[in-house]
Amino acid sequence: MKKIMIDLDETIVSGGYIEALNDYFHTNYKAEDIKEYYVSNILNPEDNDKYLDYFYQNVNVYEKSTIIPDALEVIEELKNYYDIYICTAFYDKRKPEACAIMAKHKYLWILKNMPYIDPRKILLTSAKELVMCDVKIDDKVSNLKRGYGKIKLLLTQKHNEQYTKEELAKLGILRVKNWQEIRDILIKGVLPQ
Ligand SMILES: [Mg+2]
Repeated sequence: MKKIMIDLDETIVSGGYIEALNDYFHTNYKAEDIKEYYVSNILNPEDNDKYLDYFYQNVNVYEKSTIIPDALEVIEELKNYYDIYICTAFYDKRKPEACAIMAKHKYLWILKNMPYIDPRKILLTSAKELVMCDVKIDDKVSNLKRGYGKIKLLLTQKHNEQYTKEELAKLGILRVKNWQEIRDILIKGVLPQ
């Protein structure tokens, strides 16, 4: 069976970070206000540092996040054809100790929401390039361009919209708009228009 490595954040589950920041500061930021990859980087360095301490001690971001449409259903269907691994990084260089809690939140979220995934196939690491697989699905170009994978699918998100089809093709990456397109490619062998 061919192996698929699937990212978690902004690939299967989305958001939560802006909501958490708004709750703390009583602000009303929206997704379109934030160009940073790390939402809290919109704060000044001192506030950011204090906020991150609060965040890691008090917030489970997955309680505020939403599931990307069709992700769970398509992955469950893919399991009939492929060996599935969920691979997600939890390390935050700004808070190397406090971020350990994210490994627990991520692992428990996958156990609860994806009971069809073998827990031994939940990979908590930033070293995604070491994972041998045939297919990779991620929202971050840097995770796709290195390492293994004959098929590399980039799920469109705000932060990756600037990459053109040609730029991605040079890196062997194909853009997909949603999970139905992923299903078409990996189950039906139909390429997106
Ligand atoms: Mg991601």
